[in-house]
Amino acid sequence: MSIKLEDYFDRETFNRIKDRADNHETPFLVVDLKTIDRAYDELVEGFPFGKIYYAVKANPSNEVLSLLKNKGSNFDIASIYELEKVLALGVKPEQISFGNTIKKSRHIRAFYEKGVRMYATDSEADLRNIAKAAPGSKIYVRILTEGSTTADWPLSRKFGCQTDMAMDLLVLARELGLDPYGISFHVGSQQRDIGAWDAAIGKVKVIFERLKEEDGIVLKMINMGGGFPANYITKTNTLQTYAEEITRFLQEDFGDDLPEIILEPGRSLIANAGILVSEVVLVSRKSHTALERWVYTDVGKFSGLIETMDESIKFPIWTDKQGELEEAVIAGPTCDSADIMYENYKYGLPLNLAIGDRMYWLSTGAYTTSYSAIEFNGFPPLEAFYI
Ligand SMILES: *Cc1c(COP(=O)(O)O)cnc(C)c1O
Repeated sequence: MSIKLEDYFDRETFNRIKDRADNHETPFLVVDLKTIDRAYDELVEGFPFGKIYYAVKANPSNEVLSLLKNKGSNFDIASIYELEKVLALGVKPEQISFGNTIKKSRHIRAFYEKGVRMYATDSEADLRNIAKAAPGSKIYVRILTEGSTTADWPLSRKFGCQTDMAMDLLVLARELGLDPYGISFHVGSQQRDIGAWDAAIGKVKVIFERLKEEDGIVLKMINMGGGFPANYITKTNTLQTYAEEITRFLQEDFGDDLPEIILEPGRSLIANAGILVSEVVLVSRKSHTALERWVYTDVGKFSGLIETMDESIKFPIWTDKQGELEEAVIAGPTCDSADIMYENYKYGLPLNLAIGDRMYWLSTGAYTTSYSAIEFNGFPPLEAFYI
């Protein structure tokens, strides 16, 4: 299969990036900040009632964080290290939510001392830790959701608890002097089935009603997590369609009087802005008659492309060689045999692709630099430029 560049990037921006990139040693990522700026505006347009908490793990660069801060974003933070980073940029503690349900008590205390007052949880032990280390804070409980088969990068199972436990935790939160504030879920990253939000919102509605009736607790917030799409090879609906449908689901369950709605986008804001540039290191076949061609390039699973694990995320790859395509196995440069990006899914690459040619991995702005290893086989972490 062949990639049409225009489906992913406008030519002008691509050429600007390509020119900038021509004299650098590969691999490196170039991120176009204007694309992120536009994606943020599009999300706000789609969800005018929503508050955005950017999931910092998607791309924690100062350039991205500053841009989003200046656009008025809030931040979903997973560790004290991310916390220190955003505070250093002047983000206020009221703009921060500690969204990781797995955390040390002394780190909760550190968040509290810096002024953070909103915490996610999904277990009793964590809730009790929060009550001690961050007294009086707002609590939202993450519930388990379905949808792991239609998300390209599922985030279920490890996080969240069953509905009954979520309600018990919110009742306990009140007993412990905390503020039982809301419910969160994450339907899975790159979630292609919009219906996953319908099911999750339906569960939230039941919790809101039962807590009110049975315990007199009035919840005020729904955190709908991330999961919004980036533009990879496997097609998705447009963000606008996601927004329209999800808004309809919310209105069906909650009417016009919506609770506070939080969104935690990572991938959908950042991915499309990035182009990872690599170089072909070797093209080979395993025997004189082998039909299968191997293309080894200087970026791999350990230098930013870990989301190719199980070939989950299929990044569009573009080269400027024209002509006939032939299937290829695409692998990275390290001495680990897990470092194969695509083997089952057949990528067509130009038959005349040769050592030294550049490969452009599109839609790679998110979950690449932050996943890159430090020095496996001596290879440095993925370099990045922000333009
Ligand atoms: C990773 C993560 C997100 C971002 O998800 P995307 O699918 O990248 O938008 C949001 N919320 C939480 C709690 C996360 O862990």
